Amino acid sequence: MPIPKPIEIDATKAFQFLYVDDTGGDACCPHCGAEGRYIYHWAEFGQVRAAMAGCYSVLTGKLDKDDQDKFMEVLSKKQATNKPLNGWQKTVIRMQEYIQNNNADDGKVNWALNKIREAVVSQKQFAFKKGR
Ligand SMILES: [Zn+2]
Repeated sequence: MPIPKPIEIDATKAFQFLYVDDTGGDACCPHCGAEGRYIYHWAEFGQVRAAMAGCYSVLTGKLDKDDQDKFMEVLSKKQATNKPLNGWQKTVIRMQEYIQNNNADDGKVNWALNKIREAVVSQKQFAFKKGR
């Protein structure tokens, strides 16, 4: 599966979450060969890597993940396992689709990327308030 739009690999990031691929089962972990279903894809300084959930946690657990990476990690996992999405996650999916459909228009793409950033920040602020 090619890297979905609007993800662009940023070679300057120590960690960048890309997506979770639901293989439907009968897949092997690219890291250790164990059988499973969901394959996580991420990039370390532009180098794309892939592994099943267990190896993903071990391999990336100590890497520095920014708020957007953490948000996408949770969202992709929910999508791959058909869990209900919250309002911010739905906004991000809508904006990703919007970007796909308006790819040639930089103004629209930037507007949508901004909406994605706002959703990530809002969810984080909400989680922070809830935690206190
Ligand atoms: Zn593995």
